[in-house]
Amino acid sequence: MEILMTVRKIASICTMGANASALEKEIGPEQFPVNEHYFGLVNFGNTCYCNSVLQALYFCRPFREKVLAYKIQPRRKESLLTCLADLFNSIATQKKKVGVIPPKKFISRLRKENELFDNYMQQDAHEFLNYLLNTIADLLQEEKSQERQQNGKVVQNGGSGGGGGSGSSTGEGEMEEKTQQTWVHEIFQGTLTNETRCLNCEAVSSKDEDFLDLSVDVEQNTSITHCLRGFSNTETLCSEYKYYCEQCRSKQEAQKRMRVKKLPMILALHLKRFKYMDQIHRYTKLSYRVVFPLELRLFNTSGDATNPDRLYDLVAVVVHCGSGPNRGHYITIVKSHGFWLLFDDDIVEKIDAQAIEEFYGLTSDISKNSESGYILFYQSRD
Ligand SMILES: [Zn+2]
Repeated sequence: MEILMTVRKIASICTMGANASALEKEIGPEQFPVNEHYFGLVNFGNTCYCNSVLQALYFCRPFREKVLAYKIQPRRKESLLTCLADLFNSIATQKKKVGVIPPKKFISRLRKENELFDNYMQQDAHEFLNYLLNTIADLLQEEKSQERQQNGKVVQNGGSGGGGGSGSSTGEGEMEEKTQQTWVHEIFQGTLTNETRCLNCEAVSSKDEDFLDLSVDVEQNTSITHCLRGFSNTETLCSEYKYYCEQCRSKQEAQKRMRVKKLPMILALHLKRFKYMDQIHRYTKLSYRVVFPLELRLFNTSGDATNPDRLYDLVAVVVHCGSGPNRGHYITIVKSHGFWLLFDDDIVEKIDAQAIEEFYGLTSDISKNSESGYILFYQSRD
């Protein structure tokens, strides 16, 4: 455990119990938002990678609302999603406004479902986020197709022929596509378009690719906008990397670039801070200072993007503290009702908006040990 965090932990042990009510006092009874709860999560042995992501997702309002709505639907057999719904519900229905909750059932379900997480080692928070969102999407898709099968049987039993007016002109493939969309996709999914322009005939071909989060390379003393621009930089394909042009019917030099075609409701940005170093045969952390603004607009959108001017507000940041992917600690800062909170496992503190700057990273390349933004959650204003 890193020195910095140890200090914070010791400080918290001294104020244990007093901590919760201190937060309530600091926010003030009049300012404390109605129907809001700030609960820390108990750490079950290096589960901060999980706690930090769960807190960030809890404060992504559209996601929280869908999970809570899932909770009140008819009971299904236990899954990672039912455990998540139980956890969110238990936070949302607490009598107290602040406190600590053990996410025990969720953690044991997670360990049961994926052997990657079935141990007491530190894991990658981004890997966990990815796993969680994909697992929920898969579960919802499965439920949808089961429902569809059941409905299909009902129609068959009721005799064929009578169906009308349900947009039956859509092809089977298109129908399939629509049923594949779940609220996870509605919230997090965006589309990238990969454009390739042949430098011989100028023909442009494009290929779309969906994403639930974007992973961007980081550089020293830059900003998120810079990283996103880098992500969309034009790349020239030449010599051995030439591209096969359908028009020219031969390999040609080409220019390739990636742009955002559909902007998601919640944009999750993963900063690639862990880099494999061939010389030392392991991952090292890039503690580079990358400024992330409270408001964000994307500039790397494609010409045919449906909503290129979407304005985003920063709502949560998962912060990695320490020097490497399998060491250190994760905490989360979130914005709730106009103020900022820091969740460090079972500890919740109110912080100033200016304190966010402390999580940009370090200007010096010498120290790899930093508390730096790792996954950013931006929510669209519309
Ligand atoms: Zn060509």
